[in-house]
Amino acid sequence: MNDARPLLMIPGPIEISDTVADAAGIRPPSHVAPSFIEAFGEALEALREVWCAGPDSQPFVVAGGGTLAMEAAATNLLDPGERAVVVNTGYFGDRMLEMLRRRGVQTVDVSAPLGDAPSLDAVREALAAAPAKVLFATHVDTSTGVRVDAAALAALAREHGALSCFDGVCATAGETFLQADWGADVYLTASQKAVGLPAGLALWVASPAAMKARAGLHAPPSMSLDWSVWEPIQAAYEARSPSYFSTPATTLVWALRAGLREILDRADSPRAAMLQRFAEHDRAARAMRAAWAVLGLKPLPVRDDLQANTLSALWYPEGVDKGVLGRIKAHGAIVAGGLHPAAKTRYFRVGHMGEVTRRPSDLIRTVRAVAQGLADVGHAADVEAACDAAREVLSEADAG
Ligand SMILES: *Cc1c(COP(=O)(O)O)cnc(C)c1O
Repeated sequence: MNDARPLLMIPGPIEISDTVADAAGIRPPSHVAPSFIEAFGEALEALREVWCAGPDSQPFVVAGGGTLAMEAAATNLLDPGERAVVVNTGYFGDRMLEMLRRRGVQTVDVSAPLGDAPSLDAVREALAAAPAKVLFATHVDTSTGVRVDAAALAALAREHGALSCFDGVCATAGETFLQADWGADVYLTASQKAVGLPAGLALWVASPAAMKARAGLHAPPSMSLDWSVWEPIQAAYEARSPSYFSTPATTLVWALRAGLREILDRADSPRAAMLQRFAEHDRAARAMRAAWAVLGLKPLPVRDDLQANTLSALWYPEGVDKGVLGRIKAHGAIVAGGLHPAAKTRYFRVGHMGEVTRRPSDLIRTVRAVAQGLADVGHAADVEAACDAAREVLSEADAG
């Protein structure tokens, strides 16, 4: 790694592995080349395993971003006039609500003050008040760093006869998520977040019940977002035969196979590999939090159990503003400003997902850059103590 290049430590796009970078650097293959068909087929199979999804679930790989995957879910699960409950923890919950409203869906917004998540009781009440077809939640809201209890929400949805759909764009392959065990119906993400690829792919896995919801719609979604249009394409590639609706992002699919295989090949079984990866993210997050505490940085999430493992959202200390971001970059790490409109100028965000969670030196370099940046703008920061605090957590016995 070239030390002159600052590390990209924002909540996506993120640092990618050399394996993924090499795969993304090939000459673009044809979408009907036998080697590409094989890569696409393997990527789809691997997607199910990274999602810890059932063998009867349907994986989708479509050129686009997380927003496209969200809109596809919003328009394939519900007809206009049907009812959805949205567990809203920030910017991306607001976005999902707007998409559902544009679809003509009756929405119930179950929200909480900035940095908090609605209680399970509040969600239960909303589901009990009137039948809802789908419960939506953002697994980790990237604007607040708040993680919801996805297992409990999926269970609540099932109890009330509703489907569950989770926006995992800042979580998938970083935060624990067991789609089959939890009975979650849709888990969606984009390639540039915790999955660890360049931007450009929308990725999701749908349960048989979710696919049935699409099949039962009266008003089909727009064609390029229609699961029913995309499903036969995915099925064909998984059966190792080409099929055309719209040209796949061939280079990115090639990189996707490499990235997912790299994740899964690190243990004896796909399940063990995923549990190990979740544990690596947990340990990295605890290391970063230990450092932030030494630096006197307070998280946006109002309770420990709400803090995501994939990023830290941190209030600027007294007298510090976004000017510090340039200083942090000068010391070797690119971090992000605020995103939530209610507090945008008052906090910043540090991503810690993907390959860097396996590289203590990158995490320590990030802590050091943040600490030095803060010191540059006059915030008393014990740079070495912060690095030591992170190092101590990272030296724990192998998280796997
Ligand atoms: C980044 C993000 C999105 C949007 O993804 P794009 O690829 O930028 O469209 C949606 N939801 C969450 C939680 C995100 O972090």
